[in-house]
Amino acid sequence: MRKSFKQLLICTSLTVLALGGCTQKDPEAAGNPSAASSVQMMELNKDLVPLKAEDDYRSAYEIFVYSFADSDHDGIGDLQGVISKLDYIEDLGFSEIWLMPVCPSPTYHKYDVTDYKAIDPEYGTMDDFDQLISECKKRNIEVIVDLVLNHTSTSHEWFTQAHEYLKELPDDWGASADYCPYFDYYNFTRDAGDGYSPLADTNWYYEARFWSEMPDLNLDSEKVRSEFSDIMKFWLDHGVHGFRLDAVTSYYTGNNERNIEFLDWLVHEGKRIDPSCYFVAEGWTDRKTFAMYYQSGIDSMFDFSFANNDGVIAQVVKGYDAKAYGESQVREQELFSSYSENYINAPFYTNHDMARSAGYYPDDDGSKVKTAMAMNLFMSGNAFVYYGEELGMKGSGRDENKRAPMYWSSDPEAQGMCSGPIDMEEVTMIYPSYEESKDDPLSIYNYVKQALKIRNSFPSISHGNVEVAYDLCHDRICAYTKEYENEKVLIVWNLGGAKADTDLSSMAEFNTLKAVLNTNEEKITLDGNTLSMPAWSVAVIGME
Ligand code: CA
Repeated sequence: MRKSFKQLLICTSLTVLALGGCTQKDPEAAGNPSAASSVQMMELNKDLVPLKAEDDYRSAYEIFVYSFADSDHDGIGDLQGVISKLDYIEDLGFSEIWLMPVCPSPTYHKYDVTDYKAIDPEYGTMDDFDQLISECKKRNIEVIVDLVLNHTSTSHEWFTQAHEYLKELPDDWGASADYCPYFDYYNFTRDAGDGYSPLADTNWYYEARFWSEMPDLNLDSEKVRSEFSDIMKFWLDHGVHGFRLDAVTSYYTGNNERNIEFLDWLVHEGKRIDPSCYFVAEGWTDRKTFAMYYQSGIDSMFDFSFANNDGVIAQVVKGYDAKAYGESQVREQELFSSYSENYINAPFYTNHDMARSAGYYPDDDGSKVKTAMAMNLFMSGNAFVYYGEELGMKGSGRDENKRAPMYWSSDPEAQGMCSGPIDMEEVTMIYPSYEESKDDPLSIYNYVKQALKIRNSFPSISHGNVEVAYDLCHDRICAYTKEYENEKVLIVWNLGGAKADTDLSSMAEFNTLKAVLNTNEEKITLDGNTLSMPAWSVAVIGME
């Protein structure tokens, strides 16, 4: 049965009027080519040719299946729903999908798995998954899945069998994995301790750092490692490109060295099974610490230092020194490469654990939300975008609110719309739905699509290193070059609310506007050596 819509997803008409250029004031103008042509990026970027992604420097889209698209009207998103939106994802310019957990689980978020080799019935079947992979392959979209191996659900058979064994064990007997192999899968002890929960009907405790229903696995166990080797093979055989690793800093809580050792084993095991297997890990900690995890040989670590309301991107958008956006990238290039010369950064701006970015900037007319999205998408590596951010969706406070239904339409009964997690509060959207923004050349949606088009058309943006062009940086202007193979571009950002001129004479070889991003109808011009940029705009300049 479809759940009732307790949660109202509304874009109030007052907000629409207040936002001016970010919304459609006149629906008649929506599909009007003259409206589109008045926005410079629609014309100037028209002839760019996005290249086919052939390595792991991709543009990735994070999907929470539960809230993305519902195909069978039960209110819960599902794999067939994702399949029905692959054209949308491809059209935006993404070449990879990260599916948050799809395995059976008692919770809505599914980060506590009960069976690592199946699809949760709420989402569909393995056949649906195979179909999803084959539809993605047709579109050159790789799929990575969440691998949650720090802990299972207490309902996982491994845990329930160990629990049964310990319940039956007489108090004065020692426990042994010889009698129940699953005793060794978790960290059971007779001593109460920090991070441990009592095991019902026994005098035992088990390690459960996140939540009593999520027992931590014993990653020292050869049997557990062998299980995960089989699990990786299972998904790789089903055509996934690799794995997003959950909570790697919690493998051995508080012990980076042992975490890195385990990660080293895991990454090499995955690549032994399939040499092209790609790994990206969540190590939610400071830059110096997560950078160390590159020692394991992992492909990518999520770049937490640029993300969230207090990361480099949001801080610069809020007024911190504009050139810090470039300088901070230079610092991490040096740091990451000191651990692994083959590292591929994984920049992202928000994810399912963070408040959505539309709430970061009070009094924004949409320009800051847009520019921040581009700052993420113009970073080197494999850049991730959380579903709905391309529409400027809202959501903060409790986790459920950050995982609200994808805002396909302002009509909650429209095709594909999901009900959202049960404990979600009312989430009031600021910016319009996909349906209302797709034909507006100044919508957040079309801005993000242009940013992806530029990213995918200039390999130096995804593959090159940043070199700050200090001569050009001033006030709210950040400028840097990026080079890859025989392409070199100068990228100039106006990260402020006023028009600004920049003298390019010290870098006069850059003489042609190749691509632009605008947040309004004012145009960027390059007249001689003078680059004039309206508020919150971006210029990609090449050499003719
Ligand atoms: Ca469904």
